[in-house]
Amino acid sequence: MLFLRQLFGVAALALCIAVACRKAAPKSDAAAFDAYIEALPELKAVAAGTKIFLNVRYVEHPTLPTLTPAARARLYRATEVAVKKIFAYDLAIRETETLSITNYFARERGAFGAAPIRFPADSYLISWFASDRDKQIHDAVASALKKQSSERLREYLGAMTEPAAVSRNFIARLKEIYAEPKADGQPLLTATNAADEVWFSYGHWDTLALAERACDFTLTNIGIIGADTGMPLYVIARGGVTSAFVENNAHRPYQAAGVLALYPLLADTPVFQRVRGVLTSEQKEEAILWVWLHELGHMLLKKEENYTFADSVHRAPPDLRYYEWVKRVKNSRNQHSQEIAQAKKF
Ligand SMILES: [Zn+2]
Repeated sequence: MLFLRQLFGVAALALCIAVACRKAAPKSDAAAFDAYIEALPELKAVAAGTKIFLNVRYVEHPTLPTLTPAARARLYRATEVAVKKIFAYDLAIRETETLSITNYFARERGAFGAAPIRFPADSYLISWFASDRDKQIHDAVASALKKQSSERLREYLGAMTEPAAVSRNFIARLKEIYAEPKADGQPLLTATNAADEVWFSYGHWDTLALAERACDFTLTNIGIIGADTGMPLYVIARGGVTSAFVENNAHRPYQAAGVLALYPLLADTPVFQRVRGVLTSEQKEEAILWVWLHELGHMLLKKEENYTFADSVHRAPPDLRYYEWVKRVKNSRNQHSQEIAQAKKF
């Protein structure tokens, strides 16, 4: 995923969003945020053959399925090999720190108060606990669907493409995901842990990516799962699941910082087994690797989101059947990298 999706229209959205426990962002924040992104240097693709060093952080939720240090080491080495083969970069991945989700959000809380980058955290989330949640979700879904052709809507959503039906399905899926238990037996997100909602919020992770100074990617076993005001079609089709994204970054060498949020790939709850499929741990690791390659296509080649070439790694997995997508793109003879436009901004 790439976050052009949030760049346009934020000014228009900012005033009308009031979520529980969160003040609506003032209009000046939206304008200042747009201006901040606009003033960042234009993205430049990293030349093939360049030696790339990626610093990676692992952020762990204690009662969700996790990637062990050994599994992460395997993933890093396999990703280095795959990046060489697919994108022709010499890549070295170094895990620089591991910390808990609680400590990470506490340590980085300054980002949520820093203008203008606090804007996504302040204004994108449609809280699950908002009294007018269903209406806000309907409006976000309707606005996203309006931008797409009827063929594309059918491709991602199937027969039911009316905003009312799509938002009903979306809410039903999200409700199911949030109700599933963690290892402690408590639901993933419910009234008793409503304060944890920020851990699942795309806007909060986006602000953290904008603030990032030390790492190129954060990997976490939490899921970025919820409704927000700028969801692209494929996130809507997945019931609010963002598996990964890269954001513009003023401080890192590749002009971007990324997040891989692995809960949807690691969870073995009934919903994920049903909609994603039952995967072995090897298949999960391979799916994570390919999701990462997709994000590296944004970060290093500066590729735009691609909706055209279904057999390309540059096309985000259209639904939660990650491994079906992996089988399709890994056997592709042509990843279409040359044919996909470069982004000026993420
Ligand atoms: Zn993408």
